[in-house]
Amino acid sequence: MDALVCTQCTKTYSLNDPIWKCSSCGGVLDLEFRPTFDRNKISSRPLTLWRYREALPLFSDENILSLGEGCTLLSPVDFAGTRVWVKQDQLCPSGSYKDRGAAILISKVKELGIKKVVEDSSGNAGCAIAAYCTRGGIRCEIFVPASTSPGKLAQIQHYGAHLHLIPGSREDTAAAVLKAAETDYYASHAWNPFFFHGTKTFAYETWEQLGWQAPDTLILPAGHGTLLLGAALGFQELAAAGLAEKIPKIIAVQAANCAPLAAAFEQELACVPAIEKEDTLAEGIAIAEPLRGMQILRAVKDSGGKFITVHEEEIASALRGVCRQGFYIEPTAAAVVAGIWKYVQTAPSEVIVSIFTGHGLKSTEKMLKLLSSQPETAA
Ligand SMILES: *Cc1c(COP(=O)(O)O)cnc(C)c1O
Ligand SMILES: [Zn+2]
Repeated sequence: MDALVCTQCTKTYSLNDPIWKCSSCGGVLDLEFRPTFDRNKISSRPLTLWRYREALPLFSDENILSLGEGCTLLSPVDFAGTRVWVKQDQLCPSGSYKDRGAAILISKVKELGIKKVVEDSSGNAGCAIAAYCTRGGIRCEIFVPASTSPGKLAQIQHYGAHLHLIPGSREDTAAAVLKAAETDYYASHAWNPFFFHGTKTFAYETWEQLGWQAPDTLILPAGHGTLLLGAALGFQELAAAGLAEKIPKIIAVQAANCAPLAAAFEQELACVPAIEKEDTLAEGIAIAEPLRGMQILRAVKDSGGKFITVHEEEIASALRGVCRQGFYIEPTAAAVVAGIWKYVQTAPSEVIVSIFTGHGLKSTEKMLKLLSSQPETAA
């Protein structure tokens, strides 16, 4: 039977319970849910992620909130002779892949009859949650670090959300929203399991676009792992349904300046270590204390993958390179591209899939700075 299940004490709850964490032990929840797939139905439907309707945990079509998300292009991009298939999720309605998770989660919020939510974010999740909330007439309050890119702050407010600017670190913002979440439903992209049942559509689409086949390798960002865990889940579901032969190897990319998971993976630690995080261009994945850290480590390990860390100069140079190919992405998205550059040096002959996670227009200040710090030889 479908249920919310606690990852710590295994207690189960109905999918209709308006909870976002275990009421008995406070643990993180996952969903027990059996998706079904009908290729004929899928191919006959419009190009949004709702074409996988029977695989999405929503009871009634009436509650679907859509802005045309998903079914992004899977474009071949050349990396020094190696072809990598890149999902262009910077072209999602709010400008990042977070729309996948927000569409499912906020549709579910509507289905539950919840009238107001709170969310915290380094920017893009806040934009996505705010977009779908306004679509559904649901009030929302978004908490972000005061240092968040102004473009994202403008976007959140234009969607009509109430914005809270929190001084200090990303972790201070997380603490502030937890206080608010004592009284309001927490539409968290890290805590809330419905979000991951949206990001899993990245896997479904990739599978469909490659001719109903799984690729060999995925190169994905790892902060809170909201895409990575969703992608792993999606391929697990396809494999369990007998529709994909394997789960791709997951290469997880972290910024070297904030890489607690890479450290845990390399040193085979039983928990995610406390780290001194330094500033990074990749603001969107600068997560020092990933909520689902152990899940991420397990997903990467089980897939036969590994972690790659990328330095600031590598992120900057990856960003400049990809813009010169005509793709305009934000610095956080460029961290993944820097990871691709490192991975292709191992000269794999594999089908590799990656993603442009967010649009460059969201981070104009940072993009301008990178322009003025451009090495002269590259001009
Ligand atoms: C959210 C986000 C990521 C991935 O972050 P996770 O914390 O792993 O979910 C990557 N790039 C961009 C642009 C993002 O907004
Ligand atoms: Zn529990």
